[in-house]
Formats: sequence, C-alpha cells, structure tokens
Amino acid sequence: MGCRWYTVFDEAIPSKPNISVPALDVNYSPAFKFRTIYRQGGHHRGPYGGEQEWCLRNRSVAEEVGRPPGGSTCHTYSAYFNPKDYFDNHPEYASFMNGKYNLELHDQFCQTNPDVRKIVLEKLRKVIRDNPNADYYEVSTNDGNRQRCQCPGCMEIEKQEGRTGPFMDFINFLADGIKDEFPKAIIRTFAYNVTALPTKTMKYRPNVCVRVCITGTEHLPFTAPENAFALRDVQAWRERATRLFKWDYDGLAHGQVFPAPIFDSYTDRFNLYPKLNIEGLFLESELMVSPRPFVGMRHWVWLHKAEDPSRDVWELVQDFSNGMYGKAAPHIMSLLKLTEKRKQDYPYNLYDFSYLTGAQGLFDKAEKAVADSPKALARVREARLGLDLATLYYWTKAITDHVRSGGKESDWKLNKDTIIARVEPLLLAVQKEGRWLSCGVPHWNAQQKQQAEEKWLTKFQQTVVQPVVNCGRAAKNVMPLPPELETVPADRIVDLPAPVIGFCDGRGPFYEQVDDRIPVPDPQSTAGNAVFISNERMKAFGGVLPFHLGIYDSTGRVGGGARINPDDIKGEGYRLYKMGRFRLSDTAYIYLTGSWQIQIRPLIPFLNPDNPDHPWDIYLSLKTSGPGLPFGDKTGKDGIFLDRMILVRVDEERKLTRGEVRAAEKGENLLASGDFDRNEKPDPKTGLPRGLRVSAGEGATVALDAETKASGTHSLRITRSGDAGAATVSFADPVPVVPGATYLLSAKVMFTDRHISFAFGCLDEKKNGLPHQPDNLVKMEPVTRYLGIGSTYFNVPYACQEKPNSFNPIEMALVIPAQAHYLNVSLGYGHAIGAAWFDDVQVRQILA
Ligand SMILES: [Zn+2]
Repeated sequence: MGCRWYTVFDEAIPSKPNISVPALDVNYSPAFKFRTIYRQGGHHRGPYGGEQEWCLRNRSVAEEVGRPPGGSTCHTYSAYFNPKDYFDNHPEYASFMNGKYNLELHDQFCQTNPDVRKIVLEKLRKVIRDNPNADYYEVSTNDGNRQRCQCPGCMEIEKQEGRTGPFMDFINFLADGIKDEFPKAIIRTFAYNVTALPTKTMKYRPNVCVRVCITGTEHLPFTAPENAFALRDVQAWRERATRLFKWDYDGLAHGQVFPAPIFDSYTDRFNLYPKLNIEGLFLESELMVSPRPFVGMRHWVWLHKAEDPSRDVWELVQDFSNGMYGKAAPHIMSLLKLTEKRKQDYPYNLYDFSYLTGAQGLFDKAEKAVADSPKALARVREARLGLDLATLYYWTKAITDHVRSGGKESDWKLNKDTIIARVEPLLLAVQKEGRWLSCGVPHWNAQQKQQAEEKWLTKFQQTVVQPVVNCGRAAKNVMPLPPELETVPADRIVDLPAPVIGFCDGRGPFYEQVDDRIPVPDPQSTAGNAVFISNERMKAFGGVLPFHLGIYDSTGRVGGGARINPDDIKGEGYRLYKMGRFRLSDTAYIYLTGSWQIQIRPLIPFLNPDNPDHPWDIYLSLKTSGPGLPFGDKTGKDGIFLDRMILVRVDEERKLTRGEVRAAEKGENLLASGDFDRNEKPDPKTGLPRGLRVSAGEGATVALDAETKASGTHSLRITRSGDAGAATVSFADPVPVVPGATYLLSAKVMFTDRHISFAFGCLDEKKNGLPHQPDNLVKMEPVTRYLGIGSTYFNVPYACQEKPNSFNPIEMALVIPAQAHYLNVSLGYGHAIGAAWFDDVQVRQILA
C-alpha cells in the first residue's frame, strides 16, 4: 500500500479513500530468522514513535537472549566468571602470561582449568533454567580481548588448532554439559578478535551458534581482492559450525561523517549470506540519524535487504530517495551513484576536484528542485553537511592535484565562505527541528532532553565541525612542489597535506572523539595547516625525536623504517626530509611516530592495481618547536609540526630472475652458523652455536630446537610469552660484501604468529657502522611472496598462516649500498605471542 517508515522522523503514508486488497495467498519465509539493528542509544523518538516501533514497522526481528545476571547480550564472559573474584586463593583461574598466572589480561580466564569450566557450566545451567525460552544463551569473550591464557593446557590445544582452539574447546565443554538437560538450548559465541581465526580442524558442537564478526574492508564487496582473506575466514567458519550468525557493521561504522560508498557492497553481501545458510544478522551502527550522510537510508535499506535479499539495493535506495527528497530525488540518486562509482578511490582519492565539484553541483540542483518544500529542503541540507565538511577538509589536496594534472586554479569555483556559512547554522536548524540525536529516553523530562541534545550538539561542534571549519579557513589553494621534486612527473607524486596525514584512515575527524591529530592552522605551512605532535605525548617513546616512519605489512612481508634523529634537524622552519625508499603494497600501511599514532591506510588508492608492490621514495616536511628541540621556536611548545608527506613512485627496480637465484644458490654461503646445528663447542652462556648474539626482552627465550627443524640437527626457536621487547638474534661476525652488489638471503621460517623480521646494518671498510641515511640502507627486495597471510579487522591484525606447522621458504634480494663493505644480519621476533623457528639462514652473492 506504499506505507513507509524511513526513520523515526520520517514516514510516508499515502492517503487513499478506498483500499482494495486483491486475493492474496502469500507464503514466505525470510532468508534470515533474526534481523537486528543496533543503533547507539536506541532511545531516539521522533514524531512517528521510537526506535523500537521503527524496527517493528520495518519487520526487524530480534532474538531473545538468555544472559547471565548483570551480563549483556554479548561479551558475557566476565559476567559468568571473573578471575579477580578468586585470585587470592586460585591464581590458576586467571590467565598464564609472561611466566606466571596474573591479572594482566584483566577478566580473561584460563579456558582449560577444570574448576573454571565447572563454575561456568553451573551458572549457565541456572541461566537456562531461569530463562527457559531464550533463542540463544550468550557465552562470548569480553570486548577488547586480544590475548589469551598460555598455560600448558591451553597451549596444548592452541598448538594443534590455533588461537581459537582453547576457546572453542571451552564452549564445546559447556555445550556437552547442557545438552542432556536442555536439548533445545543453544549457546551463542563469537568469532571475533582473539577468536576470529578459524580453527584448523576442530568444530563447534551442533548446539553452538557462532556469530562471525569478520567484515574485511566494508565499503568494498566481499568478493573484491582486498577482502579475499576475510571471505576465506567467513567461509572457513561455515565449515566449523552448524549454526552461523553474521555480525555486520554499518559500513565505516564509527563516526565517519564524510560521504562514503556502501550500497554496492550490500548487494554483494546479501548475495553471499543466504549461500552461507546464516540464521541471523546483526547490524552494529554506532551513531544515529544525524549527522552522518544517508545513515538513515543505509539502515532502512539494510533491514529490507535482510528481510528479502532478492530485493534490488538500488531500487530500495530509489524508494527512500523518492520518499525523503521528493523532487530532489533524481539529483540525490546521481550523487549516490557518483560516490559508489568512485569506491576504489575511497578514502583519500575520492574527495578530489572532480568529485567535490560534481557532488556540490548536484546538491545545488537538489536544493533548487525542492526550494518550495521546506521539509525536503531541510533533509537535502542535512545530507549535504558531510560533503561540505569533506570539501573544507580536502580543500588544498583537491585543488593542488587538479593543478598538477594540468588544470587551472581558477577552475575551482567552490567558495569557502558560502560553505562555512551553510555548515554552522545547519546544526542549529537540525536541533530545532528535533532531528538531532534527540535522546528521547522515555523517562527524561524536558530539561534532561534539552541538556542531552545540547551535549551532543556541543560535542559535534567541538570534535568535528569547528576543527574542519578552522582547517578549511586556513587551507591554502595550491601547495607548490619542493624545488628538489619540481622535475618529477606529476603522476608519480602523491602529496598528502596535514589534514589527510592526521587521520589514521584518511576519512577525517571522528565524531565524539577529541583527537590531537586534527590539524591546526599554521601560516608557515605549505598547506596552511599542520599536525602538531607534542614531546609530552611521545614521552613514553623518548620524545618526539627520533621521529619514526615505518611500513607495516599485515601479511608479514618486508616492511622497513627510518627515522629523523636530533642531529638530522638542520634548521628552523619547515624542511623536507627524505626518509628512504620503501616497497609499499596493498596490505601495507605507513605509520608515523614512535607510538604509531598516525597511520596512513589503506594505501590501495595510491597503488597501481597491476603492480601494487612498487617502490616509493617517502619524504616528510616538518619543523621543530619549543626550546627543548633543536632549532625549535623558543616560545613554542616542545614538539613537531608535520605539514606534508610526499610519496614519489620510483622506477621498478631490477628483480632477481629465477636463474640468478639458482646461480646464487651454487655460490658460497657467507653466513656462518645459520644452520643452527649445534657444533662441538656451543657458547656456554647461551647454549647456542658460537657467533650468535642474543638480545631477548622479558618473557622471550631463545633456544635450539632438535625436534622442529628444516634440516640438520637443530633449528633456532624464539618464544615470546609477553608483549615486552622483541627478541633478536644477530650474527656476531659481519659478512664481507662488495659495495653495490646484490646478494640473496634465503631462510626457512615457521611461526605461530607473524612479526618475524630480518634486519641488516651496513659497515664501512673498518667495520664501523655507516651513518643512518637512506643511501646507506640495504634495499630489500622480496623474491618470493612468502609467509602467512593476515587480514585487518578493526585495525587489529590477527594471526593466521599459510602453511601452519611447516617451514616456509624466504628469498630476499639485498642490494648493498655503495659505501658498505660489511653487513650485519639479525633475526627478530616482536609484537607476537608465540614461537618462531628459523633454519638454514644463508647469504650468497649473486654474480652477474
Ligand atoms: Zn589456560
């Protein structure tokens, strides 16, 4: 009959004097039994009811969850068992970490302790008795749990099944323990964080349902190459559980306010989910209707897709647009399609000259089309907020890139003042209309409601609108290239001004989160803005200098890093520092500062899809500030202003051919002791072959392993049980090398978690270390794409491996710098918890 409940603020009920209902015989069962949407707060009330009414009208079906007393509908572990309550008498109920049972992991408990299991089972039985009709009984790990007990019992299972093994074994114990008394009860748990990695062969019992929280890159289809790992893991979970539930995130869920592509990914997701025979879907959305562009549309479309996956996403989008935007709908549709068409460019490259001017043009037309309809006009203006903010934030980059690719600065017709004048009063209008996160908790009085609204409004003003407006005001139109890069062709340069660098994923400031990465206006900066990183903030890392840049690759491939030392600062004001040459890849990101506070990710939009593993020269432009830093402005605060990062794509370097690799293999191995076979006279201190130097942080051990080895009698094993410093093993005797020549490093490695590293240091003729400059660094070129593969989930890499329990070959070309006559080689294992084995580490020259 055409009734629509688009949001709690917007319904469309056609007025018809007569309704005729044809003979109906519809028999339909939805593809997913449960369809739940979580919207932060969940208390919003509009003129057409509250959240719950909205959900019911759109036929959202929530499951009934049996939860422990005081527990939530998920993350219930600590409500079932908290090791703190028992720690005095039973430390062994807690987690074994760094050589002892402790509360380092807070409420995380041992999964294999028989007493813990019994206590939880009894509590669970009581919960089921008290709530006999629940659809699920939730027993799932606490949020933020990325570590686990490493007692012998837990590690025994983990060794066989991987990280999730002990957790699954624990849940299976509970499942077996309830099935006779409660044959219909189903335990629900998570595949998330520490339990995200599918087990090797172990499966959940039939009375367990697993909620899989693996999404990959949300704005891209699950079938996109970038999501191959996520898809593989979701499919692996299908094999390991009879009952599956999918936890979705409202694309780019956490507070992002700029326009973003998402709808095509719904089509793809809802093609996949029915095939996986999922019984329920959950959508987590952390922010409500305003101010994220089209967030109400996303939720409405998602819920209708969940009810009937055969419905066309773009027909639903059209329906929503027609109902909400009236005569402006065609322009809104064009805008959404334009955004979607550019999804491969999201985030950084989406907001360029062409997109921003095109999208602003469509909004101009949309506003004109509904000029006589105040309601539709208000909705269009609300939808425009995100684009206006993006325009201000990407101002400098958009115009600069346009000019570099042959355009004129005067082509840019957008007016800053007009946009700023549009943005600021809009929030007040939205609030006045009551559409602002209205926080209508039923028992609140008018004053409480008003206070809550003002709080949200103030927060949004402070954390998003004001910083973006300030940034836009200060933004210069065009950044000139530094003289040393003036001759480089424009298509080889990626020039990122402060606003883009400052935010970890290039999307812009996050609602609700005051963040010191937000750029501050600085007229000295080429962009007009700079990110200020204070010495105070970097205190735990020894201050802001040395200033770190690094490449982290979630697949465990070669990364690398460089730093600016206090000695390298040569003067006042902004200066360009060449950080070195790095091979980027589609699974890598760039991090800055000792705390990795700033992360540029994903890098995909910069990279040539046909050859993502390209080498790049990376430059940083920064100035020091404060009396505590060399050449710092004496009146300023101690710290560094970073205004720009420039990446210059260099010509592909020569890659080793298989013939060269084979020729090298016949040459002499220059590295002694790399087979780790115990010789006659081991070092009495370490028990290792002589010539190996060990540096192991707390919780790390280095030993020879006679059982697990690739060849000979032993391998070298590094075990880490804590997150303290990395363990490294270096070869004491530097390898003599020919300056400028190319060498092949080969090795066999095996690991339970990634983060294996190889490091090389260059020495001069007298075996003194060469100054730490880009020209003195060994260039590492992976010959084989080796090692395990990983994925990124909520920016937390979780471990997985390509060939578990076997040695993986590594081959790497090393190009020796012109000044180097000796090479130091070391092996490392850091960040990871687990073990790594090295064997047959060799260095051979490749003779041309
Ligand atoms: Zn344990």
